[in-house]
Amino acid sequence: MKQVLVLGAGGFIGSHLVKRLKTEGCLVRGVDLKYPRYSETAADEFVIADLRETANVRAAMDRPFDEVYQLAADMGGAGFVFTGSHDADIMHNSAMINLNVAETAAKNGIRRIFYSSSACIYPRENQIDRDNPNCREDSAYPADPDSEYGWEKLFSERMFMSFARNYGLECRIARFHNVFGPEGSWNDGREKAPAAICRKVAEVPDGGEIEIWGDGEQTRSFLYIDECLEGVLRLTRSDFAGPVNIGSEQMVSINTLVDMVCAIAGKQVSRKHVTGPIGVRGRNSDNDLIQRELNWAPAEVLEAGLGKTYAWIAAQIEAGKSDVDKHARGPIASRAVTHLS
Ligand code: NAD
Repeated sequence: MKQVLVLGAGGFIGSHLVKRLKTEGCLVRGVDLKYPRYSETAADEFVIADLRETANVRAAMDRPFDEVYQLAADMGGAGFVFTGSHDADIMHNSAMINLNVAETAAKNGIRRIFYSSSACIYPRENQIDRDNPNCREDSAYPADPDSEYGWEKLFSERMFMSFARNYGLECRIARFHNVFGPEGSWNDGREKAPAAICRKVAEVPDGGEIEIWGDGEQTRSFLYIDECLEGVLRLTRSDFAGPVNIGSEQMVSINTLVDMVCAIAGKQVSRKHVTGPIGVRGRNSDNDLIQRELNWAPAEVLEAGLGKTYAWIAAQIEAGKSDVDKHARGPIASRAVTHLS
């Protein structure tokens, strides 16, 4: 039986990944500061631990796992990453985790490790034209990410690659582009555009108004969680190390995203454009490399995943859950726990 370790198993992508690995018959240990928020973990064993502590990382990697997935990070959507208020925590917490994980993985004979980087590493000047952003993997340098979150991801990519070069650690690195789906943050300040818009549309009556940050003409692409996991597993089990984009090439403006959600909800909603953190003007995945190396790329249309996400968020609102950690067992680490004490 394949032995797998998922770091960040209480998070959005990590909790879905654990479910997927269990359907494949893997023996899974999950580690996180907290249990998954919206459903019970599917992991065989779940360890509550702070991965900024070296001893905790060593204890988590106490045997030569066949696969390790490093998803733990201090992260969130634009409201968390682009305000500047969380920069020190984002850089310090995620770098500490990655420093510990890379070194311990190399020392403890981990067979293969996946690291989740981000499209936020791409230089801001390549993303000024909303219709033609350049996010080819080889455009990452000279580097100029538009957030400290992106700089930390770039640093950690380089660190994992250094451990591969000097210690033979088998790394696989992906740059995710806006992953979304059910059971992700939707109302806790860390939600991203698809979840935030689904929530706003679900909460407003037909004919009402919702707030949109900026003029809504900024462009992005959004990847449904199932396709993200498919890409992660294909990459990890391939001979290609990356870094490679895992994202959708279906670029839409935020205004178009709102229109899609309104169509799904069957509502007419007007937009009020307000000042807010918006990030770069345009961003889209470039899938030439993944298609060439893995002979696969995400292909699902955005509306399919949006429909499932809207239904889940509308059900949360309907049930009046408002961010209640219903399924969580044991003490939940609040956001403050990831801050320096
Ligand atoms: P998430 O915030 O839902 O999950 C991250 C998990 O890491 C959380 O459960 C958090 O508790 C955990 N964590 C944070 N600090 C920790 C610590 N000190 N010790 C132990 N656990 C800790 O985020 P996600 O959307 O699931 O993203 C997973 C990974 O993918 C992250 O590295 C993120 O940066 C990357 N990524 C995600 C997206 C996206 O669109 N979701 C895009 C680009 C990159």
